[in-house]
Parts: sequence; C-alpha cells; structure tokens
Amino acid sequence: MDTTTTSPVSVNTFSELGLTDLLLRALAAEGYTVPTPIQTRAVPPILAGRDLIGCAQTGTGKTAAFALPLIEQMLATPRKAAPRRCRTLVLAPTRELAGQILEGFNAYGRFANLSAAVIYGGVSQRPQATALQRGVDVLVATPGRLLDLVGQRLVDLRTVEFLVLDEADRMLDMGFIQPIRKIIGMLPTDRQTLLFSATLPAEVRSLANDFLRDPLEIKTAPQATPADTVTQSVYFVSKAEKKAKLVELLRGEASGRVIVFTRTKHGADKLHRDLDKAGIAAAAIHGNKSQNQRERALAAFKSPRPPVLIATDIAARGIDVDEVSHVVNYELPHEPETYVHRIGRTGRAGLTGAAVSFCDHEERPRLAAIERLLRRAIPQRNEPPAWNASMATESDRGGGRGEGRPSRGRGQGRGQRTAQGNGQGRGRPQGGRGAGLRREGRSGSEAPKPEGAATATATAARKLPRKHRRAL
Ligand code: AMP
Repeated sequence: MDTTTTSPVSVNTFSELGLTDLLLRALAAEGYTVPTPIQTRAVPPILAGRDLIGCAQTGTGKTAAFALPLIEQMLATPRKAAPRRCRTLVLAPTRELAGQILEGFNAYGRFANLSAAVIYGGVSQRPQATALQRGVDVLVATPGRLLDLVGQRLVDLRTVEFLVLDEADRMLDMGFIQPIRKIIGMLPTDRQTLLFSATLPAEVRSLANDFLRDPLEIKTAPQATPADTVTQSVYFVSKAEKKAKLVELLRGEASGRVIVFTRTKHGADKLHRDLDKAGIAAAAIHGNKSQNQRERALAAFKSPRPPVLIATDIAARGIDVDEVSHVVNYELPHEPETYVHRIGRTGRAGLTGAAVSFCDHEERPRLAAIERLLRRAIPQRNEPPAWNASMATESDRGGGRGEGRPSRGRGQGRGQRTAQGNGQGRGRPQGGRGAGLRREGRSGSEAPKPEGAATATATAARKLPRKHRRAL
C-alpha cells in the first residue's frame, strides 16, 4: 500500500487538479477558490481510478475530495442509470451525514445534470423508493435502510461502479460491520472503492484489506493548533476524585453548554448515571445509542436549557453546535490529535470557550504527548499531588514547560482543592462565571486574573456564513 506524505502539495487551483469546466463553475459558485489538502491529494488519484484510503475528519473538505472526481468520471463515461440502480454508492453512518453528502453532490454537480438520491432509516421508505424507481447516478445511504430496500428489491446494486465508505470508523462503531460486508458482497468486484475515516483502527484496516485493491493511503496533517479562542486548563486529580470534581465544575462555572468527553461508551453511560444521581441533567451519545436517541440528545443539547452532553469521540463528530461554552476532558484521549479535535468543539464561530481536562496518575504520559503536540504546557489549576511531583521530569513535560511564564504566587489551586473537599466549591468561584478559567502557572501560583473571555457568550458576532465557518 502506498502512503503519501502529509506535507502540503503545492496546488493552488482546482483546474490544476484536472477538473473540467462544469465542475470549476460549480466550485466558483460555491465560493471555493483553493483546494483543501485532502482535495489536493485525493482528487488526482481518484480521477486516475485508484482505490483510496483517506484518513481525514469531517470539516476538512473530504466530501468534495471524493464527490468531484467521481462526478468527473461519471461525466467522462456517460451512462443512463437503469431503474432501481445507481452508478455511485456512498455509505454513511447517519442520516445527517448522508444528507450533507447528498447536498455536496447536488452542489458540485449542479451543472452536470446528474441525478442523486438519499436513503436512511427512521422515516417512511415510500418517497425514497419512488426516488429510486428510475435509477440515479448517485445514491447516498445508511447501511441498514439500504439493506432493507435491497431485500424488498427496490434497489439493485449489481451495476455500482464507484463505492465510497464515508466515516468508516464511525460506521463500525455503530455496529454496521455486518450490513456493510453484506452490501459490498452484492457489488461488482470490478469497481473503484474509496474509504474515508478519521481514524484507522484494526477493524477499518481489515475492511480495507478485504475490499480495496492496492489502495493509496493519504492522510491530512493532524490538527495541532487549537483556536486561541479556547482557554485550556488541566486539573490533576485521582481517578476517584474525578466525579466530584466534575460535579463541582458543572455546578459552578461550567453551567453553559457543556460537552464532557469519555473514552469509552461504558464510561459515558456510567458517568450519565452518576450525574443523574447528583441531580445534574445530562444526556449521553455514543455508538451504542440508536439514531433516535442520539437525535433526541442533540436536540436537547441545542435547546436553550441544554443538558450536559456526555460523548465519546466518534459519536461527537456528529455534533455541529457552535455555542459550546465548555469542553471537559473527563478522560484524556490516547491520540493527542483527538484532544485538539475535542477542544475545537468550543471557541467556534468567533465565540470564546473553555477546555478543562482532568488528568490522573495514569494519564500523565497522555498529557505529555498532548503538550508535545501543542508545543506548550497547558496551564494547571491546582498543585500536582505528590505522585505528580515525583513522576514529572522535564522530558515528559514536553520540554519548555513554564517557558516564558511570569513567576506566580501560590494559593488559588489549593483553595479550589479545599473547596472541593467541603462542598463549598459548588457555588461559583469568586469573580463569577469564568473566573475559574484562570491561567495558572505550572507551579500553580500566579495571582489569578479574571478571564471573562474564557466563557462563551453570545455577544461575539458570527462573522461568516455557516458553511464557511467549519474548520478546513
Ligand atoms: P466536509 O469536510 O466535506 O464536510 O466540508 C467541510 C466544509 O468545507 C463544507 O461546508 C464545505 O462546503 C466546505 N469546503 C469544502 N471544500 C472547500 C474549499 N476548497 N474551499 C472552501 N470551502 C470548502
């Protein structure tokens, strides 16, 4: 398997990628002038017919990265889709993503006169079956509903020429592996297959091994710079203390729209129960939740009185909410890039936000890896317990910890720890909302200054139209 490097290729225009006029006009109409890195790397090999594994998150422009060259190829070999058949099949994990992909094909193919349809579960199948009757060029589908319709002979997959598996890791996380294998088993073996996934765990690799032919693997450079609208801080806590600390935080400063990240689905469910017991309204989303449950949780999270949203990384990708005031890393992620991605849920659209991480003894190496990626220390909120002091070395602190920091006086961190012990800390810290989001030195010692900017407020103006606000 070839792997391209993550360094940028110097392509500045879409025409250099080999796209024809019909597509260039559509891109101009969309306001795209420069291809994103995934587009630069993926379009030429897809145009050349290669199978491809694209390691990229949603928000990187990956829909256009596969839609553009596939439209181009379909235009190059015009063929009328037969009844109930399609030329391009895109499988996606959720109806939201499937809908977005359809919108992408419609926008990029607006001058190409191609037909497209989307099918997903949870709604009546009748309009979907009707849309497929005459056949379409592009069919975007979630796996379950697609299999349903195939079983009823309302869709016939025997002439698919191009297959896209989008957000493959999320589809597997949601338990779609069997339906996906079954669907691919119905397709002609002579086809081009593209697999996109934000992460490449073993199950995704094994799917790729089984169904892709000599794929080219491309990765977009991992995001290493969080927006400076996000104020970061870390609490050193023992595993046992985390729950109480979280409750304190949620009853205090973190009372806006808060996402709490856990590493596992089980951990998310457990925390949900714990917050319930503490009388804090919460909702959890992860791969074991049904589409309806996830949608309900997201709708509640978008409402004016949002519950705390507990999420696993993969499930959180479906969250498209700008006004998130706090991200709490209840557990630090294994991959440092995931930290950047998580905290990018706040501080969006010109708003400010706070990212608070809990770090226990075992997570110290993960924190060090995150700080290495960020090339800076994350300000701490409390004194490291003895285990930290004894473990921390300059090298596992990622080098320049504390570099250039003013020397700081002691006290604040300790005060917070004491307050936690006696329950006094549950009210807002002095200074009101956001006052707890102070930048403290690694020594935990600067006299804290209120940082009103650390809390997302609705005062900041949205500067860009929605579609241009997503991180590229
Ligand atoms: P995606 O990762 O496909 O969900 O795309 C993320 C967002 O970026 C979408 O709103 C696209 O419309 C937008 N987008 C994709 N490619 C470009 C580009 N080359 N220039 C500007 N915006 C883009």
